[in-house]
Formats: sequence, structure tokens, C-alpha cells
Amino acid sequence: MKTQQIQEKIVQKIIKQMETAGKNWTKPWNEIGGMPKNIRGTFYKGINTFILWSEMLDKGYKQRTFATFKQIQEKGGKVNKGEKGCQVVFWKPTEYKTGEKDDSGDDVYKKSLICKFYYVFNLDQTDLLEDDINPIVGEAEELPSVEEYIKNTGADIRIDDSKYKNACYYVPSKDYIGMVSKDYFKSTKAGGSATANYYATLLHELTHWTGHESRLDRNYKAKYFDDVHKYAFEELVAELGSVLQTQMLGINSAPTEHAAQYLNIWLGRIKEKPDLFFKASAMAQKAVTYIQDLQKKETKKAA
Ligand SMILES: [Zn+2]
Repeated sequence: MKTQQIQEKIVQKIIKQMETAGKNWTKPWNEIGGMPKNIRGTFYKGINTFILWSEMLDKGYKQRTFATFKQIQEKGGKVNKGEKGCQVVFWKPTEYKTGEKDDSGDDVYKKSLICKFYYVFNLDQTDLLEDDINPIVGEAEELPSVEEYIKNTGADIRIDDSKYKNACYYVPSKDYIGMVSKDYFKSTKAGGSATANYYATLLHELTHWTGHESRLDRNYKAKYFDDVHKYAFEELVAELGSVLQTQMLGINSAPTEHAAQYLNIWLGRIKEKPDLFFKASAMAQKAVTYIQDLQKKETKKAA
């Protein structure tokens, strides 16, 4: 009974948060694959993005970092024999004398941009790897009690950082959770620390896991992904389940803006039934209770 009251309280808090958080949700982990970037790890802008992106697709490059010949040398690498660079443009701000004088007789300068071209190579054209250049710094910490909590469920969790699996998900047909490793998670303004973002995501997937037909059976079989309402509803359940657990496990002190934004997106896709949010929250509470019951069983076994 007490647990239920805590859960209700948390749901009230998240509703409040949703009113102000908007829908500007972004992934809390660093993208693996995706847009081209330079050696400092910043993304190319404008036309260069398109030039390099199409180059990546054309040539089938698996890495997305590009660098000049000199930059590759500076990192201790070599461009492979026979490789050709790709031309990108760079606008350099400059000042030039107009030849005119102002009222006090000083030279008048004008600002302008000079277009410069230079050549860059994809790291696949060199002996360097992305990890040599921008080593991933794992910010997220391990929380032993939470690890234990997750382990006690017996869920099949597969950590997969292979370059093109840029997602965290649950696969109902095979009943496993796919996760990007902790190292890729970053801290975000809306979500909080990298640690909180990692566990919030994992607990979201773990809530999906409770819906499997062998557990609470939230009817994944019935064309789950084709039905936008069913899908949106399940996303509400999963995210609310995550909010409940991150609060109860003490990972976050309040529901994050990030969670509220995510809920707002999915709630926006369910038009016809305003009471669906409360149904989703009841389902989420059931899911969390299910996971908590698994903890008790484990404790009993151990005793
Ligand atoms: Zn989900």
C-alpha cells in the first residue's frame, strides 16, 4: 500500500513536469555512426556535411571522422597509398583595406569572408581508428545496487556497441534488451548525469520487458509496431516505469525534463482518449511491482 502511494506521488510529479517540459527530446547517448565530423569531434556544417556524407555513402566508409593530411600525421597516422582526399570548403573571416580614409584620416577596413578549399581524408583511408582520436570517455558510473536490482530480474540484456546499432531497444519476439554500453552515455541538461541517463534508459527497456507474453502480457503480438496508438501507449508505460524506478531507486531526485519531454511526444500521438495517460500509469505501476516482486523472490532464495 505504501509503495502504491509513493508511485502515485511520482506520477503526480511527472504530470507537473510534463506541463513545462515541452517535446524537445534528444537521445541521451552519443551517436554511433551518423554525421561526418572533424578531428576535434565537431560536426561539419552546411555544404560540407552533404559533401562528406555522400562521400561516406559512396565509398562505404565505416568511420565518420575526416582530417587533413597534416592532422593525420600529427596524430601519428598515415594516409594509405593511393588514397585521394575529398575537397571541402572553409570560410575564413578576413579584413581588407578599402583604400578609403575616414574623417580622421585613418584607413577604412571592411570585413569579408574568403572561401578556402582543402582536402580531407576519411579515417578509413588511413591507419588510424576513431578510437585513437576521440577515445570514448565513460562518464557514467556503475551503481552496484541498481545493477543488482536489474540482474535479479533475470532479463537477457545484450550490450552492443557495434558501429551501426545506434539504439537501445527491447525485442519482444526474441525477448531481449539491446543496449549501447554505459561508455556512450553523456550528461544532458534535460536528463541529468550520464549515470542517470544510462540507468533511466535501461529501466525504460526493462519496463518493456515486463510486457512480454510470459510476464504481464501487454499484447505485443497484435501487430504492435504497426499500430501507432498501441506503440505510443506502450512507450508511455515504459517511460513512466523508468521514472518510477529511477525515483524509487534514488537514481534521480525528481522526474527529469527529459522523461517529461519523451512522455509528451508519445501522449501527443494518442488523440482520442485523454484518460489513457492514467491507464498507462496504472500499467507502469504494475510493471514496476512485477520487477520488485522478482527482487523479493531472489532475496528469499538467498536467505
Ligand atoms: Zn521504448
